[in-house]
Formats: sequence, C-alpha cells, structure tokens
Amino acid sequence: MKKRTHGCGELRATDVGKDVTLSGWVQTWRDHGGVVFIDLRDRTGFTQVVFNTELDKKIHEEARRLRCEYVISVSGKVSKRPDGTENPKMPTGKIEIITKSFEVLNTSEPPPFEISDDVQVSEDVRFAYRYLDLRRPSMYKNLHIRHRVCKIMRDYFTEESFLEVETPILTKSTPEGARDYLVPSRLNPGKFYALPQSPQLFKQILMVSGLEKYFQITKCFRDEDLRADRQPEFTQLDLEMSFCEENDIFSLSEELMRRLFKDILGIKIKVPFERIGYGDAISRYGTDKPDTRFGMEIVDISKILTKCKLKIFSQVLTSNGSILAITVKGGDAFSIKEMDELTAIARDLGAGGLAYFRVKEGGKVKAPIEKYFSEDEVNAVLKETTAVAGDLILFMAGKTAASREILGSLRLHLNRKLNLTKKDDFKFLWVVDFPLFKYNEEGKRWDSEHHPFTSPRAEDLDLLEKEPGKVKSRSYDLVVNGMEMGSGSIRIHKRDLQEKIFKIIGIEKEEAQMRFGFLLDAFKYGAPPHGGVAYGVDRLITLFTGSDTIRDVIAFPKTQKGTCPLTAAPSDISEQQLKELSLKISK
Ligand code: ASP
Repeated sequence: MKKRTHGCGELRATDVGKDVTLSGWVQTWRDHGGVVFIDLRDRTGFTQVVFNTELDKKIHEEARRLRCEYVISVSGKVSKRPDGTENPKMPTGKIEIITKSFEVLNTSEPPPFEISDDVQVSEDVRFAYRYLDLRRPSMYKNLHIRHRVCKIMRDYFTEESFLEVETPILTKSTPEGARDYLVPSRLNPGKFYALPQSPQLFKQILMVSGLEKYFQITKCFRDEDLRADRQPEFTQLDLEMSFCEENDIFSLSEELMRRLFKDILGIKIKVPFERIGYGDAISRYGTDKPDTRFGMEIVDISKILTKCKLKIFSQVLTSNGSILAITVKGGDAFSIKEMDELTAIARDLGAGGLAYFRVKEGGKVKAPIEKYFSEDEVNAVLKETTAVAGDLILFMAGKTAASREILGSLRLHLNRKLNLTKKDDFKFLWVVDFPLFKYNEEGKRWDSEHHPFTSPRAEDLDLLEKEPGKVKSRSYDLVVNGMEMGSGSIRIHKRDLQEKIFKIIGIEKEEAQMRFGFLLDAFKYGAPPHGGVAYGVDRLITLFTGSDTIRDVIAFPKTQKGTCPLTAAPSDISEQQLKELSLKISK
C-alpha cells in the first residue's frame, strides 16, 4: 500500500499538476463506457477520481469492478476538471485525479444504506450498523466537535489549576434520584457494586483529601425509563472546589461557556449570566428550566376576576385555585382549527379545556366566554396581560401548580409552532434559590430537591425541623434555552448537619452509616467548605452540532429501550457465569 499524500477533502485548483496518492472508500461510481468516475471518501471529504480507458486500458477495466465502500488507494495526477464539469458544492469540485495506478485494499458487501447525510434510515438500523453510520460526514463532524469540546474543557481546567482525577465505576450507590445499575461481585458472593449515578461522593472526599480543585469528564449511569433524550450512560463534566462560594462556581463556569461558544461556534455569549429565583421561574414560566428567549410570560389574573360570572372561574377561585394567562402575540390570526388543536394539546397536558380571548381593535375581545365578563374585567385583563389588538389571550383556571405547568408547556409548543426563537440564539440562566426539600405525597415524606449533600442556606437553618418546606438550598442549575445544562451546589461539610438532613428525608442513623458512612467518617477529619457542579456533556455538544438528539453525538448510544443493536447488549449469560456469581434467574 502506497502512503497517502493528502486527505480526500484537501486538494484544490492550486494543486493541479501534482502527483498524489489518496486512500479511502468508494462513495459512488459511475461507469460512462470509456471512463469510470468514482468519488473517493475519507474523513476529510471527497475527491473525484477518473479511470480513463484511453489513458490506460487495464486500469480502466479493473476500475469497472469497483463498488461502493470498497477501500482503495489511488495514485495519479491532480488535474483541472474540464470546463462546465466543476462541482461548486464540493470543496474539491474544481479538480479530479487522473489515475495512474490503484490498489484495492479491501472489498465490501453492498452496505444496508447509502453512506450519505441525506439518507433517511431508522435509528435501529443505524445503531446496528453504527460503523457505517459513523462513516457519514455529519457523524464524523459531531465526533470531531465532541473531541474539541472536551479538549477545551481539559485545557481550561488545567489553566485554572484543576486536577483531573478518575473515580471508580465499580462502587457504591450514589443517590441522584435514579435507580442504580448493579454489578454482582464474584469474589463476594451475594454482594453487588453499583455503577455511579455521578462521582458526587468521591469528589467530595477528594476535597477532604485537600485536592482543592478537581474535575473529570466521566460516565454516569442511571437506570431510568428512557424518555426522549436520556441515555442509561451519559457523560458529565464534573467539578468540585474547596473554599468556594456560589459566585466562584458561576464565574468559572461562565468563562468556560464563553470560550466554548467562541471557539466552537464563533458566537459571543453574554456573561455574566442572568439569574432567576426558582419561585420566579415557576410562576412566570411554569418550569424550573425556563426558555426566556421569548416573552409569553404567565400572569396571575385571579385578583381581578374575583367577581367574574364565568362559573368555572369563580369555582376555581373559591377553592383556592388560580386563573392564569399567557398572551400570544398575533394569535388572533389562529384559525378555528388551530384553536381546536391548541385545546387538544392543553387537554393532553391535563387541562379541562382552554378558554381564550381574541383581542380586537378598541379594547374589544371576542370569545365564547366573552359575555360573562364586565367591561371593567375585560379592561383589567387586557391591562394585566398587556395584550393588544391582534393578540390571543389563553386562560388556565385550576390548581395553581398544575395550571402553571400546563401553560409552561403550551408556551414551548407555541414557540415551536410560531418559530419565535432561532436555534443559534443562546440564552443562559442560573436558576437559584431552590427549595432544599420537596414533599413526596405518595411516601408522605420530604425528599431532597437535588441530592442530600446540598447545603441549606445559613439563614434557613432554624427552619430545618420546623418548616422544612420553607428551607432554601445553596444549589443552582444552569439552563440554556430551556434545557438544564448543569446542576450543582455548595455542599454540607459538617457531619452533624449532614446527619440532620438524612434524618429529615427519612434516612435513619444506622442506614446513613451503612450507605454513606465513608463520607460521614471523612467529615470527622477536617472537611473544608466546598461546592461544585456537573454539566451534561452530551447535551452541551448537541447545542454545538445542532443535533436533534444526544444519540447523534455519542459514538455508541443505546436505544430507548436501553439496548445496543450493535453488540446486542444486554444479553443472556451462561449457566456457568451465573453459578460463579452465585445468582439464579427466576423466569
Ligand atoms: N452530582 C450532581 C449531579 O450529577 C452534580 C453536582 O451537584 O455537582 O447532578
């Protein structure tokens, strides 16, 4: 095999006349009688290669046997394409290679799908033949961006004196709110390792060890039902710092994001990022990860409608519910069919129905419910919602929390429907002031809103036992365009407070010792104040690649069912293996 001189995407008109050797895969072949043309592909791009019978009969004959995905090495002269045959869509479109010799390095069966970005293939097929899927230029581009993102992260944290430390994969349960993946231990029959849901406990222990600044780009494992964009194993940029406060984590993260967006996308993002309180996010956007790029904020109009004659509204208000509204700019233009669709969506989200006002000129409104509203009420609604002629006001009456959630989802739907935001417009937000606990109605107990190692605010310590629901935490989420990109907190570093928190969430002393004894013990020996954060690397990369799913930025992803069609994992194991592990499968 001759050593190649160039990549298939590299040659230009300025190279005309050069003798070159290229290696790659046959993308397409066209047999025009006396001339065979192929497009040769490697990860750098494509070059047209010509085998001409007039120049070399034998080579031409051999070239006629080439097929898609054959691996070949071609040597020849770079030549200007004849006038009128240039391809302006290809970076190498002005030239072609006139072959002097070539070698078939390997043949290929016809692939199950064409290696091209335009082909629509189901994910199952793509995953089963991932090695072919990854040959597609867009997939290579995604992996290349992924590599660059990770390199920028490593360079940045190295500059900032962080140490990358690997933490164990075979370990003990780390509570991040999901089920654990468990691995039986052969050497300790009947005992199991858990795969880490995150390196949380180890990174805190590294702080006790005096490491001060830790980071890691690492896999985390969570056994959850795989909704939309989840993977059972995913990658986090995980970090932890000693002697820090919220602002230290914020500015460190903002600079990282600024660099990433500048270096990868050439986009200047605005730092510092805005902050929004959890309560504010929920009441204005119906979610703790709001997309604030478009207005359409939720307003509470309960107060101005206390006397409203519409029965559903008055009933809701007397039973402590709320009447909330959002305004859709220009929404009066929606057809009856579009309104029906919107109502159906609201119903799917759990609403009983969807009341609305179409706003007309002169402070008038039009709607089936209009007659139940006095003129003053209409005026007050228009004032509160700031709706003007041509707008549409959507109302949601019911339990406050549920109504907020429904309107929050409707906002997102309307953003997609009306194309209100651009993909490359990025809005970063720190969501702060989360409650420390959330009430678990089913279990009749308090759970941690984040994980149980999150510190409460010092000023709320007195409320811990009396009114746990009122305690705010020192945690923060980074939200980008309505996506949670990362989450972290200042931690508890004192054993007694950590034990108290375990107790409130129903983990008794013995259990705490059994599950987290190693951390509690470490806290006996001078644990420094510390805090950290973790970012979802896969999701972040989808922002840079513009991919619709994180599966497109992971080399070997799993399906929604957690399977890998390439390797057929998970799979059966032999009787012998079960025996070695002291396990029995009950069917
Ligand atoms: N361990 C947390 C998580 O995986 C992040 C953190 O608190 O640093 O979400």
